[in-house]
Amino acid sequence: MKETLQTREVRIGSSVLMGSGHPIVVQTMCNTRTSDVQATVAQCRRLAAAGAQLIRITVPSMADVAHLREIHTQLRSEGIETPLVADIHFSSEIAMAVVPVVEKIRINPGNFHPDHAKARALFGEFLELCKKHDRAIRIGLNHGSLGKYIVEKYGNTPEAMALAAMEWVEMCIQARFYNVVVSLKASNTVVMVNAYRELARRMQERGVVFPLHVGVTEAGNGDSGRIKSCVAISTLLSEGIGQTIRVSLTEDPENELPVARYLAHRYSGAPSVKLGEREESILKAACDWGAPLLNHEVDDVPIEDEYLKDELLQACRRRFYKPEYIACPGCGRTLYNLEETFNKVKEATAAFKDVVIAVMGCIVNGPGEMADADYGYVGEGFGKVTLYRKKEPVLRHIPEDEAVQKLVDLIRQDCQN
Ligand code: SF4
Repeated sequence: MKETLQTREVRIGSSVLMGSGHPIVVQTMCNTRTSDVQATVAQCRRLAAAGAQLIRITVPSMADVAHLREIHTQLRSEGIETPLVADIHFSSEIAMAVVPVVEKIRINPGNFHPDHAKARALFGEFLELCKKHDRAIRIGLNHGSLGKYIVEKYGNTPEAMALAAMEWVEMCIQARFYNVVVSLKASNTVVMVNAYRELARRMQERGVVFPLHVGVTEAGNGDSGRIKSCVAISTLLSEGIGQTIRVSLTEDPENELPVARYLAHRYSGAPSVKLGEREESILKAACDWGAPLLNHEVDDVPIEDEYLKDELLQACRRRFYKPEYIACPGCGRTLYNLEETFNKVKEATAAFKDVVIAVMGCIVNGPGEMADADYGYVGEGFGKVTLYRKKEPVLRHIPEDEAVQKLVDLIRQDCQN
């Protein structure tokens, strides 16, 4: 393992210290509706008991700010001190409104306003408010949702992601606000690893290195989701890049924690976690072979289990034996049974080769987050689905019970043409 990246220390609430040599912090996100306060509190309880050190909750509307406050108050009244992170998309008003409520706020400042100068001004105001309330923030930019200004200026590459992040990092430095974490997630493991490496290099060059929140977004579920996450996250952790991690799975978020804790233990001596024999052997293989495959140091792996070998090679984008799936983990915005639908899509499309298929939980962020998918299945809500070809919606308002078959028909029709 290379020397750990020397980062600034970030404090989140009264209980979590991140970066500057502290063990890797493990986090996850609720997938309950935020307006369902009791369900979200119950899930937070379970996640905290399973080892989550930070819990993120989506805040899709201004009305949910009050729900978030209730959730926070109830957890604290039960003695659960796990800091909460508000997940904000697009609205600077909601971002400002949650600052007094929770310990950390995740934003993509580029989405604060379509006019870039106005987005910068709003981010400046947001930083002042966070300073006043002594909050931490995460600047979270994802591949596929970089924003028009960034894509037009820098393109849509790992370098562009790092450059885009550096603009906001610089604003934090200028504002003398240092309680900052940065993430550059992607579902493509090569893009993700290169983006973080580039950002780490640029921050080192700048002389101010904020802790990095590392994760593969829309990794999917089951063995594939675990392997995809582990090959990329472990590659970065073995280089000392990554002070907090989230393993995003299209499953119950409790299932993410043993995987994340395995990684935190392996790479930073955080407390160990007991895993089943099979799960541990899969995670170990992904960590052992992720970096050599992603770095093209080896072209194959000496593993007899052909299935595991296929999965490792595909996760590292060295050989594709089945469609490449992108599926968001779901959150309080999810509008249907995501995990069940994703499994149906996988089963119905398994025979297709060389296609990237996305299954996304909501119409607000799903289309933007699908990045380079060839086809997308996106929940609209009210039992309806929109199907995408590349970034274009091609079939709208399809009843959910017909949508998987329509997706298969669409792919088959394109394959025949
Ligand atoms: S795409 Fe999925 S994870 Fe992202 S906001 Fe929508 S439902 Fe939540």
